[in-house]
Amino acid sequence: MEPKADIGVFGGSGFYTFLDNVEEVELDTPYGRPSDAIAIAEVNGKKVAFLPRHGKDHRYPPHMIPYRANLYAMKQLGVKQIIAPTASGSLQPDIKPGDFVVCDQFVDRTWGRKDTYYDGPVTRHISSADPYCPQLRLLAIDVAKEMGITVHEAGTIVIIQGPRFSTRAESQWFHKMDWHVINMTQYPECMLARELGICYVNISLITDYDAGLEGRDDIKPVTEQEVLRVFDQNNDKVKQLIYNMIERMDISVHCSCHDAAQ
Ligand SMILES: [Zn+2]
Repeated sequence: MEPKADIGVFGGSGFYTFLDNVEEVELDTPYGRPSDAIAIAEVNGKKVAFLPRHGKDHRYPPHMIPYRANLYAMKQLGVKQIIAPTASGSLQPDIKPGDFVVCDQFVDRTWGRKDTYYDGPVTRHISSADPYCPQLRLLAIDVAKEMGITVHEAGTIVIIQGPRFSTRAESQWFHKMDWHVINMTQYPECMLARELGICYVNISLITDYDAGLEGRDDIKPVTEQEVLRVFDQNNDKVKQLIYNMIERMDISVHCSCHDAAQ
């Protein structure tokens, strides 16, 4: 029997497993193999597919992740809604390590990534005016508030190419543009979901202040160790938030995201 799933979850750095009693499936797609085997489990009668976007052993750095295969594999499983937590940096002093941000806009600063399924001969220009699912965003905010999590209800995420972190000058530029958070994987993951007509929400867990804060010598530039340390501290909270969201998700609902690709 073909494996099926209703809801997809992508794990980021520090988030490599999700549910118990999983069935692991190895999938292949026209865009190659996804980052790893996909773990499928059931929550409240809903089938949930989990994929660590970097691979379980973090073998894919952000610019090498097979994004098209990852999203296409979810589509092959029948997934219509995706929850995508990420470890992200803060660009603004009021967004603090440990806070959550449910982003509503992105700015793409990556280059050279395979970021579309429309390489011809079929050509499409999909709207990215509102790239995140409005229904899943509201659900994430509601559930986070109920859990007593400090959640920012909107935010612009700038996606850098990586794998290096920002210079001080880059970070100050992003800060002065009033962008809120910074990350290396939201693009093209978010837009590929949109091209496939899948609802997609990002939950940014803030782990650091990027290259520091102007005038605050006590706040040091981000390091890899610091990202993982803060993520580890908040890992259970992220998982519980996603679990609670899944319990409340309606898998039969129709959303405007499903029409984006048509
Ligand atoms: Zn949607």
